[in-house]
Amino acid sequence: MDNAYCEPVQLLIAGEWCPGSQDRTIDVVNPATGRVIGTVARAGKEDLQRAVAAAVRGFNVWKNTPAIERAAIMRKAASLMKERCEPIARLMTLEQGKPLNESRAEVLNAADIIEWFADEGRRTYGRIVPPRHIGVQQWVVRDPVGPVAAFTPWNFPINQVVRKLSAALACGCSVLVKAPEETPASPAALVRAFVDAGVPAGVVGLVYGDPAEVSQYLISHPDIRKVTFTGSTAVGKQLAALAGAHMKRATMELGGHAPVIVAEDADIELAVRAAGAAKFRNAGQVCISPTRFLVQKNVVEAFSVAMANFAKEITVGDGLKSDTTMGPLANSRRLAAIESFVSDAREKGATVLAGGERCGSDGYFFAPTVLADVPRDAAVFNDEPFGPLVAITSFDSLDEAIEEANRLPYGLAGYAFSQSFKTIHALSRSLELGMLWVNQPAAPFVELPFGGVKDSGYGSEGGPEALDAYLVSKTVSVRAV
Ligand code: NAD
Repeated sequence: MDNAYCEPVQLLIAGEWCPGSQDRTIDVVNPATGRVIGTVARAGKEDLQRAVAAAVRGFNVWKNTPAIERAAIMRKAASLMKERCEPIARLMTLEQGKPLNESRAEVLNAADIIEWFADEGRRTYGRIVPPRHIGVQQWVVRDPVGPVAAFTPWNFPINQVVRKLSAALACGCSVLVKAPEETPASPAALVRAFVDAGVPAGVVGLVYGDPAEVSQYLISHPDIRKVTFTGSTAVGKQLAALAGAHMKRATMELGGHAPVIVAEDADIELAVRAAGAAKFRNAGQVCISPTRFLVQKNVVEAFSVAMANFAKEITVGDGLKSDTTMGPLANSRRLAAIESFVSDAREKGATVLAGGERCGSDGYFFAPTVLADVPRDAAVFNDEPFGPLVAITSFDSLDEAIEEANRLPYGLAGYAFSQSFKTIHALSRSLELGMLWVNQPAAPFVELPFGGVKDSGYGSEGGPEALDAYLVSKTVSVRAV
């Protein structure tokens, strides 16, 4: 298992692991070597039909399972994830590239997320509403919305699935996951933990295939009642439109372009350490990755030099090696995209203080890169980079920084570094974002809402709000006769 999957990754339909009905598969590549490490089954229409029918049967069982029993099964799945952490983390690094420590953290974090939602699912209270007539009793109950179709990307193969799956299961929904074909084995291991924990057949299903084909089929299927997608804004808009056409509830967790505002009174060393760690995690392929570094003029030079030194200290390599601190990009598309961001910024006058080029010729490695004096019309300041690039520009006044931060249509995450409460207060009131982290790297714990505004999407994948997405309210009003 060191360099390849032990077996092909299969679909999970009606509680059975199976190949696609037409025996078609998709190759999976290790981004650290560019070599094929195995295959994943590709679902055809017949498989999707069976999977939806199973999800409907699963829903009828699960919604009638008491919340406390659902929670017990979920908690068992969480313990299995903890027990299986090491082999699952290795699988994730093999197919996704991130350093083993990041994979281990993702697996353990999945257990934390499952446990939190398991407990929260026991508290999906309705309410009693005072009636207008004394002979009436009226209450509001919250029912699970129905079978869910969940679409998740390759950057956090487990985390992206587990937030959706746990929230949906906690509410009593069944879930059909279309996991990423690029990194299929680790999400399959997550799903296996739920199956082994005793989740009834059909409550969780897992398919892979042609993303457009699968999403078109599932979103328009009348038995699917809720759609949840994480991925790019462009694809999110298409899927949200399709969901709208079929009147489906939808959660969209889309792209971001996180501003990092470093004020002149910031602790610069802390800002570099915290924003640098957040930046190069998962080689910058993170929707909440810091991407637009706006630094006040009189500290911009000190910050830029320190960030370049931070970047040069990073050990780029195969995530399976113990000294690696940053792995490869996911695929050759990302490599080409990052090369193009750097050359565009250079042409427009930016200075490369660190990195700036691909490392080696095997796999898809790109050096941690710091670009100073980046003009605001450079592509990297406008399109989501999704890679290990720090792009720095300076600002004079806080108002200018806020205007620049809000200029783009994205509104997912943001970061700020300042020791002044007045500055922090002004930023927290003015920035158009779903999440703001001040004087620290991202801390997206499961008990907090996770999601964006504007083109970054809608809905939340954390906190009690995440459960709202899978519940519908029903008013019951009874007159005593
Ligand atoms: P992409 O837009 O082609 O795909 C992004 C994800 O969406 C993939 O998992 C893909 O399988 C899925 N997808 C694509 N078309 C789909 C469809 N019609 N129906 C259902 N799913 C579909 O981009 P990519 O080259 O894989 O990744 C690059 C871009 O994607 C990045 O620049 C970033 O903006 C975005 N992305 C965002 C996240 C996130 O966490 N928000 C994660 C991964 C990728």
